[in-house]
Amino acid sequence: MLTGRNILLGIVVLALGAFSILGLINPHRTPPRNQIDTLLVAQAIPKDEWIVEVVPPNGSLYGLMEKNGIPLPEIARVTFQFGDFIDVTTIQPGDTLKLKLTDDKQKIMKMTFVQEPTLRHLFTVTPDSLIYKEEQLPVKVVTKLLKGNLSGTLSHSLQEVGLPLQSAQQIINALETKINFRRDAKTEDEFMVLTDLRYFEGKLIPGGKVYYVSYKGKSAGKHELFRYEDPSPKSVLTGLYGPDGKIVRSSGSGVGFPLASMHVRSKFGRRIDPVYGGWAMHQGIDYKASMGTKTYAVSDGTVIAASYSGGWGNQVRIRHPNGLITQHAHLSAIKVRVGQKVRKGQVVGLVGSTGKSTGPHLHFGLMKNGVWINPTNLNMVATRELTVIELKDFHQQKQKILDMLQQYL
Ligand SMILES: [Zn+2]
Repeated sequence: MLTGRNILLGIVVLALGAFSILGLINPHRTPPRNQIDTLLVAQAIPKDEWIVEVVPPNGSLYGLMEKNGIPLPEIARVTFQFGDFIDVTTIQPGDTLKLKLTDDKQKIMKMTFVQEPTLRHLFTVTPDSLIYKEEQLPVKVVTKLLKGNLSGTLSHSLQEVGLPLQSAQQIINALETKINFRRDAKTEDEFMVLTDLRYFEGKLIPGGKVYYVSYKGKSAGKHELFRYEDPSPKSVLTGLYGPDGKIVRSSGSGVGFPLASMHVRSKFGRRIDPVYGGWAMHQGIDYKASMGTKTYAVSDGTVIAASYSGGWGNQVRIRHPNGLITQHAHLSAIKVRVGQKVRKGQVVGLVGSTGKSTGPHLHFGLMKNGVWINPTNLNMVATRELTVIELKDFHQQKQKILDMLQQYL
């Protein structure tokens, strides 16, 4: 049996061992202090029992746990609760999952999930819950006004003045709704971006807020965009708007979001059936939402189903001009009827828990040629105009941005 004294003795023996090995390797010179420390640590502590896995392209946390032989009920138990703390739509290839298992490898004891170099999600698993702690490492944020002239592509030009790729893409997506770049972009067109730049350990990392964008060209004309930040942290309304607070709409084909604020509960794909257990293919995405939350048509179309239908509960299905069918299920109320034409952003129902459901959520499905496909494959853009109250807020935020801009001009 291991007693505290034995462990202590072990450490001392190991430490002595480390010293004598050092002595053998390097009899004439004392190694630097930090080298001794490293060796001592390596010798004295038993091997690191953390399993480290990196999310592969198209991979999931589920898959990583399955790969490590963790029993399926344990995976299901942990991953179902995971969504309460982490927006799983933000999980990307390259994110790192670390697991510490019990000795019999049947249960997860601790879990760390590192999303970007600066954000660590720490979990301690107990029999009935996950204890969660977030660790945000310090990031240096600098606000800068970046100016440049178009030379080559806009993406290249924006990155050349110091914007990270993600911000450049966000700006291009918005500007493309106003400017036909293929036709009107000219070398020497001027652009300006007021943005936060985020640095971690001296390295530029994505995620800085873009406050203001202007683009001026001989053929393209002058265009301005302002950031609107919705008070709700996961709101899809946060983003770049025109000076009048109008959303910058992509040319018709854009797909909206089914909810104003999205928090994924369960992703598309193979999962443990939350109601009956056992493997089941999940034919859509479950978004967490409270009872009665409005759900919106993601694109123009015609309602082809609007009634109670077995396990789906109250469901609405809409056929869109491109042939795709969207489905909103488990609704508490249906707000449209079969045959009705609906517009993108129109309310089609209220979130509920009808049919085979464990609690209020929106099941959102997307069907192509009779097959359910992953709705996240579609490029989603913000869905509705700002309300009168939100517009007032937008104009206040815009004024602050203009004041900020004065300091940098
Ligand atoms: Zn579902």
